[in-house]
Amino acid sequence: METCQISVVVPCFNEEEVINTFHCALMEVLEGTGCSFEICYVDDGSRDTTRAQLRALAAQDKRVRFTSFSRNFGKEPAMLAGLRMSRGAAVALMDADLQHPPGLLYRMLELRRHGYDQVVARRDRSGEGLLRRTASSAYYQAMGRCMDVDVVDGEGDFRLLSRRAVDAVLSLPEANRFSKGIFSWIGFDTVSFTYHNVNRAAGRSKWGGRRLLNYGIDGLISFNSRPLRLVIYVGLGLALAAFAYALWIAANVVMHGVDVPGFATLLIAIVALGGIQLATLGVIGEYVGRIYGETKRRPPYVVRETEESPRRSGTVPA
Ligand code: UDP
Ligand code: MG
Repeated sequence: METCQISVVVPCFNEEEVINTFHCALMEVLEGTGCSFEICYVDDGSRDTTRAQLRALAAQDKRVRFTSFSRNFGKEPAMLAGLRMSRGAAVALMDADLQHPPGLLYRMLELRRHGYDQVVARRDRSGEGLLRRTASSAYYQAMGRCMDVDVVDGEGDFRLLSRRAVDAVLSLPEANRFSKGIFSWIGFDTVSFTYHNVNRAAGRSKWGGRRLLNYGIDGLISFNSRPLRLVIYVGLGLALAAFAYALWIAANVVMHGVDVPGFATLLIAIVALGGIQLATLGVIGEYVGRIYGETKRRPPYVVRETEESPRRSGTVPA
């Protein structure tokens, strides 16, 4: 089914300000490689002119393809759609905001020629706020302890995959996807190199604090059941502590005959236990919710139009 040497998959959500600049830069690089290529844009339900721009780009050039979602489904479904669309022998994933410099493709292709199935461009964190930097590095350290797969700080979705790596990624059936974990899970020979972090060319990042936090929890939960085990340990530890405390009180009463004024103890025990129980329920709930989500077997996204079937809504063509 391979019809070209390189596919570039680009998820776009409200990127009207940069998409043209990005497209020109990418075309220049791709043409410079001398390989046959295609660009697979995925419009993730943009509410600005992104979709119209992509439609126009695809109309001008056969090598530009696009899929547009019926609403915003998120970057993960957009990447999945792009990978499914891609037909190249090697597939690069890239952001539309020029934070993933297209010029690095040369280096990636070079490393791919050495036989690596995954070539990862890892960004350093220069130019980022101190708060975000500290939070990210703490998160990755915690993740490193908790997860069964390796995720490395700065290694994101910017990578070049061989066809068999793409097939491996697509063979995972889960609807709720955490790509960082999936890329590490599939294995194969992987190589990474570091590049200097660049800021967004224009427009705004869609990742606010809350979205990042949710993403973090997703990562933790979607790749193992260790949080459940942790909860068991906490429960057991508390039960043991309570048992020891009860023994101590009983011994005190037997030896000294005093009854303990227990109001504060009771209150603390109730509140602490209540809190832990709620947190535990939350952890279990997260997993149950995921099971519920997966059992519904909903598709991860709904397609509105593609380059082959542009604009079905609006005026009916004659
Ligand atoms: N993106 C997307 N759907 C979303 C959010 C983002 O397809 O719901 C795309 C976005 O257009 C960009 C890439 O994912 O090409 C990275 O997004 P962004 O630059 O906002 O994230 P950041 O670089 O800040 O992590
Ligand atoms: Mg960005």
